[in-house]
Amino acid sequence: MPFLATLSAISSSAPLASRAFMPLLIVCILANPSCHEYLPEMIQINPPENMLWLVSTQALVIIGILSLLEICADKNNELKELMDGVQTWVKTIIAILVGMMIIPEVTEELVAPELDRAGFISWKTSAIFVTALLTFFLSSMRVRFFRFWGEMDDDDIFHIRRIVSYFEDLWAFLAIPVVIAMPILAIIISAIFLAIALLYQRLLHYLDDRERITCGSCQTEIKPSASVCHQCDADHIPQKLLNWKIFRSKQDNVEALSPELEEKHQLRLLSSRCCPNCAERIEIDKYLKEGCMKCCQKLDPEFNPDWFNKYKSEVIARAWKFIIPCTILSLIPVLGFAVSIVVIKLYIVAPLRIFLGMRMKFTLRWGMRLLTLLLLIPACIPVVSLLVVPILLAVHILVYSRYAEKRIGKLAPELLRSTAIEIT
Ligand SMILES: [Zn+2]
Ligand SMILES: [Zn+2]
Repeated sequence: MPFLATLSAISSSAPLASRAFMPLLIVCILANPSCHEYLPEMIQINPPENMLWLVSTQALVIIGILSLLEICADKNNELKELMDGVQTWVKTIIAILVGMMIIPEVTEELVAPELDRAGFISWKTSAIFVTALLTFFLSSMRVRFFRFWGEMDDDDIFHIRRIVSYFEDLWAFLAIPVVIAMPILAIIISAIFLAIALLYQRLLHYLDDRERITCGSCQTEIKPSASVCHQCDADHIPQKLLNWKIFRSKQDNVEALSPELEEKHQLRLLSSRCCPNCAERIEIDKYLKEGCMKCCQKLDPEFNPDWFNKYKSEVIARAWKFIIPCTILSLIPVLGFAVSIVVIKLYIVAPLRIFLGMRMKFTLRWGMRLLTLLLLIPACIPVVSLLVVPILLAVHILVYSRYAEKRIGKLAPELLRSTAIEIT
């Protein structure tokens, strides 16, 4: 999986920016063949042959001594300042070595094989370049930050610099194995979260389907959220309203309903794939062409031309609500990303893709998957991950609503035609 390996290499620039030799030592240990029997396969590294010198026992001893020296030197503020100028370059060089170790040579299955064949810079070289650049950037930020801090707190009265230094040791020590397993981990965690969320949704739908009230005029069992009886067409005031609060999504015992609220309720019903009128489950393709199978209600663009705009703003307003909680969660690198993917699937993609045709859905879906996979790189870097989640949400909202709008534009004449046929 060269793509995932590249993700790991690029994410390794974050720990590499805080220490140079310790991450290298960890990478060398993970790549050392005799250590492989004691390590889980997920974090093992198979270095290319031209890098084997770096994983030899002699090299391991030297790198081990260097990382010990580095840790000790970092605890002394004078030595630390002395090293400032050199360390950014040392870290960058080590980032290049680590990249050469982690990223495999294979090029065929990669995203842009045409570029490779055309004789441009190879995938591996460009990935190493990005890693080195990121490391250089993060490391110089770090130097500048500590210099600024040093001026503020000259004598390190509260030993804060020392404490931070110990945390950095721990981070450099633990982060590399996590980073190497992280992209795979992120994908597994999102898959598990998504499965749980979908099962939960199924359960809610099942429970919702079982809940029925009797229609006053024909005694048929109807859904409490229906505004029309699907049997006799009698009007009802919905007894349950979808209100789209995060924790309580329904409101009971409704007495009177403003037209505005009723319209919102109906749009929300449609977004959960229920008929806006009788609240029964609908098959979306049939519904768009022929209307509801139970009550024959149809989307009528002539009667209510801007219903889709209302629908869209309703869905988008709901999605924006998740941006802040998801951004805060993304402080925990992998978890925030995984939760955002679930939120996107359930609250943005699902209600908008109702209107997307099969073909459009395919290219769109793969385009967005690729984007998500690319965003996984920065999502694995702490703090930077704070930016990724809002970008991911916003791009999904914009792209999917745009596509859905286009599709509705195409669908409108068809709907008009089928309504006209029915009337004549
Ligand atoms: Zn009835
Ligand atoms: Zn219906």
